Amino acid sequence: MTSTPSLDSIDSIHQLAMSLSQQVQADRRHLHQHPELGFLEHETAGYVAERLQKLGVETTTGIAETGVVGLIRGTTAGECVLLRADMDALPLQEETGAPYASARPGVMHACGHDGHTAILLNVAEVLMQLRSRLHGVVKLVFQPAEEGPGGAKPMIEAGVLTSPEVNACFGLHLSNNQSTGTLVVQGGPIQASADEFQLIIEGVGGHGASPHQTVDALAIGAAVVGELQRIVSREIDPLDAAVITVGSFHSGTRQNIIASRAELHGTIRALSPRVREFLQRRIVEVATQVAEAGRARCIAHVTNLYPVTINDETMAAFARSIAEQLVPPEKVIRTNPIMGAEDMSFFLNATPGCYIFLGSANRERSLNHPHHSPLFDFDEDCLPLGVELLSQLTLCYLS
Ligand SMILES: [Zn+2]
Ligand SMILES: [Zn+2]
Repeated sequence: MTSTPSLDSIDSIHQLAMSLSQQVQADRRHLHQHPELGFLEHETAGYVAERLQKLGVETTTGIAETGVVGLIRGTTAGECVLLRADMDALPLQEETGAPYASARPGVMHACGHDGHTAILLNVAEVLMQLRSRLHGVVKLVFQPAEEGPGGAKPMIEAGVLTSPEVNACFGLHLSNNQSTGTLVVQGGPIQASADEFQLIIEGVGGHGASPHQTVDALAIGAAVVGELQRIVSREIDPLDAAVITVGSFHSGTRQNIIASRAELHGTIRALSPRVREFLQRRIVEVATQVAEAGRARCIAHVTNLYPVTINDETMAAFARSIAEQLVPPEKVIRTNPIMGAEDMSFFLNATPGCYIFLGSANRERSLNHPHHSPLFDFDEDCLPLGVELLSQLTLCYLS
């Protein structure tokens, strides 16, 4: 790995990326108009595969249902870099009124994954053109279902990290929290883990006027909600980030019937594997014991979804050194981690790498609505920088 690319290669990659700016925009708009939900990205995968094959990239489809992998082999042997993009859209009715708005009612690229896929397709073109400079292999991973239930893990289980073995991974996410031209590059945890829990409280129902003959599942459920708040406020170091949210609570049927059952669902977020494990364990302990104290029974389930997204410090420093040569150094920033989750975490857990936020907002053009909003759209001027960044990282890593 060399950390300082020559200015010559920076200029040629910059020019190549800029020459692809219309194409990356066209790719993005095509994908934007034809959004597909997780594991249903058949047309998207078809589009990706066709574009890769036209470029002469070795292409495999149908990995973890709709995943696509492209392999670019350099002219000499070396390490293997994985670049990842996600392809899925969200179940949302688009309200942007853009000429390239979703043609599918109720489905929308409202997170920017159309941008990620378009960027990676054009990175493939840059790298194919500069293949003689590649010492090693590039694996282009187009994954399904990032928004859930997750496509990264099944792709890894299908062997995407082997033959050849991956040595480093990079990826990016557009961010409407930052303006175009800004890059967020930092080591350590950048996004939270996300897990979900389900608590079923079983009591004994009865007449609303005779509570002493019942075990009121609703009242115990309310006590559980209260006690769960104390885990974060009283048991977690205030300098550690942690969230327990009870998002749904269903119990009871009528004002004069004491409920025999309560069902609670919630989400757990943490920025360290240690806190994540602690929250998972304590939620079950607290809910079970509060129920027992009230003579009820609690059946608790915790489901692991996405781990904490953690950038390797060395890889982040490497990425930062490259980023600072592409944009003015003051535009390469660090921010607070976010408590949203990301299944790039599975790749980063398996192999050292760096996940970067590519600023995509443009306030003057009202392109700064939040991700997952029906009004979400981004500044397409950020796309060539994304192409340049991933191409440059790969070429420097493999040079
Ligand atoms: Zn999203
Ligand atoms: Zn996203």
